[in-house]
Amino acid sequence: MALLADMRNQPDILAPYAAFEEHGAGRRYAEPSAPYRGEYQRDRDRIIHSTAFRRLVYKTQVFVNHEGDLYRTRLTHSLEVAQIARTVARALRLNETLVEAISLAHDLGHTPFGHAGQDALNARMRDFGGFEHNLQSLRVVDQLEEKYASFTGLNLTFETREGILKHCSAKNARELGAIGERFINRHQPGLEAQIANIADAIAYNNHDVDDGFRAGLLSLDDLRRQPLFGEQYLDVQKTYPQLGDRRLFYEIIRRMINKVVTDLIDNTQRRIESIAPASIQDVREHHEATVALSDQVFEMHTSLKRFLNKKLYRHDKIRQMTDKSKAMIEVLFDRYMANPGQLPAEFSARATADGDCESAKARVVADYIAGMTDRFAIAEYDRLN
Ligand code: MG
Repeated sequence: MALLADMRNQPDILAPYAAFEEHGAGRRYAEPSAPYRGEYQRDRDRIIHSTAFRRLVYKTQVFVNHEGDLYRTRLTHSLEVAQIARTVARALRLNETLVEAISLAHDLGHTPFGHAGQDALNARMRDFGGFEHNLQSLRVVDQLEEKYASFTGLNLTFETREGILKHCSAKNARELGAIGERFINRHQPGLEAQIANIADAIAYNNHDVDDGFRAGLLSLDDLRRQPLFGEQYLDVQKTYPQLGDRRLFYEIIRRMINKVVTDLIDNTQRRIESIAPASIQDVREHHEATVALSDQVFEMHTSLKRFLNKKLYRHDKIRQMTDKSKAMIEVLFDRYMANPGQLPAEFSARATADGDCESAKARVVADYIAGMTDRFAIAEYDRLN
């Protein structure tokens, strides 16, 4: 039993301020423990077996899913986030399994067509409480997955749910109970949640450079003017002057990720030493996040983010796709609202369960649309037109 406890909680390798599952706040519905798996392992497994997780493979990250087979999708993005987050968690002696569970679940609530889909759905939901993909990820694991006989949702632990809910308005927080409290008290989440959050940004910043360049939307000249890319470019060129373009490019990307992740670990370690938390509670009550890049690397990382925003996410070619996607989501929403009979039977029943309550109906329609893959949304759009 002692060995099993060691395997589950890794007490000899976890730092005292890590998330220990025996001190965790537990699940909403009490369940007996599993013989061979810890609680965060079970969370991760439940996420991987969920319907929403499988759909991530057909959801847009930046490029609409059918545009090419080599671009990131939400699924491969989530795997890259998990890989980066696990490296950081392990190096800092934090709970690697928890950080993996949070990373794999963080985008479960994303609509089809990436941010374009979320913006269109949010605009249509303005009078009905809005739509926010981060809140939707929590809704997916808490309410929308139907996998268990005795409860709705996946019944994940508090710590995984805390990590999924990255940001939240005070108004929404008040409706969420314990999980929303930190947004009212201005507290931080545990270090594992903080890591998953930054790993998300590190992953997309770097893989979007890769995808954007391969799609021909970003030029090497522009990229070289970015401090993070430019610095690695000079290094690689100096060491390997004969290197072909393709390998030069990937060698740069590889080194960029390595630089940012190494800085994150080193700088966070320094911060932990100066803040000196004794437990996860101290981490939560600290007035600012503990996990952070150094100022210098943060500036490089942020500069690249701004660059991608301007040159890639708002590129004409991406914009054309974005406009089309928005229009499709708007038409789908309007059609289902006008005629809930077009929804599958169980959604249609839920949509009309509250009689004439428009906001209850709108929420069901938003849940249905948010769950769609890109290609299913396109097929539904064609069918309803
Ligand atoms: Mg993400």
